[in-house]
Amino acid sequence: MRRERMRVEIEPGSGFCFGVENAVRIAEEALRNGEQVYCLGEIVHNDIEVARLKNMGLVTITYDEFAELHDCKVLVRAHGEPPSTYEKAKENNITIIDATCPIVHSMQEKIKTVARISAEEKGQIVIFGKKGHAEVIGLLGAAGSKGVLVTGKHDVGKIDFTRPVWLFSQTTRSKDEYELVAEIIRLNIERHSVEHPRNTLKVYNTICHQVWAREPRLKEFARNHDVIIFVSGKKSSNGRMLFNVCCSENKRSHFISSPEEIDPGWFGNAESTGVCGATSTPKWLIQKVADVISEM
Ligand code: SF4
Repeated sequence: MRRERMRVEIEPGSGFCFGVENAVRIAEEALRNGEQVYCLGEIVHNDIEVARLKNMGLVTITYDEFAELHDCKVLVRAHGEPPSTYEKAKENNITIIDATCPIVHSMQEKIKTVARISAEEKGQIVIFGKKGHAEVIGLLGAAGSKGVLVTGKHDVGKIDFTRPVWLFSQTTRSKDEYELVAEIIRLNIERHSVEHPRNTLKVYNTICHQVWAREPRLKEFARNHDVIIFVSGKKSSNGRMLFNVCCSENKRSHFISSPEEIDPGWFGNAESTGVCGATSTPKWLIQKVADVISEM
């Protein structure tokens, strides 16, 4: 008897987020105009998409290489950059093609404003994020000397709880973790409230809607399929976070970066497979993965 064909479904929310899509579009437009464009760091945490844009002529450079460049065009990716990058560009007559995501840009501006107004109160601007992540470097740059990086609840000891705290999150962090960190800071500030009754904590809701709104939908999607194939670059922190969301709901979740990594052994007895990805995974790659599974 012939076995029923396995159902393969792509999660509707998968594909680039608005910010990355915008940055890729800006890069493609500049390249189509025949311009030589350098990109400061990889445009997206996805090797296959980086290779596609490289074929179109996009040259990825490091910060050391950037420091040596003069009189050219450099694209700033969706993660944004600290003020020092713009200052260097001005010094070296570099034209910045600014593809900073508008959401990240507005957070940087907010942080700069808070850094100014909090000066008198000796406030601290706490950024909850991943150490070394490009967006976090940009946010800490905007905070200047007031910035404190907190990578998780184990790290809150870095904060001086006798001084006011303004708390921001990297846009792609987990909402639950952010709420937990905020709560721990609040409790610690409360503990010092006798000696410092006017001390405050202000929490900004800066997790990107495109990320946090996906968590519950992704959970449901993962529950509704026998097998989940999650497609993402290995360097994407958002990819790791969303993959963990899938794993929490479906033990048969697998992380891949390219269709070649698919193992046919994963699909034994499966009637349906769901394919999804990070905010840095292009839709065309997710479609390709779904096509390969359907053909198997
Ligand atoms: S995740 Fe949100 S904030 Fe970050 S680049 Fe994408 S759209 Fe912008």
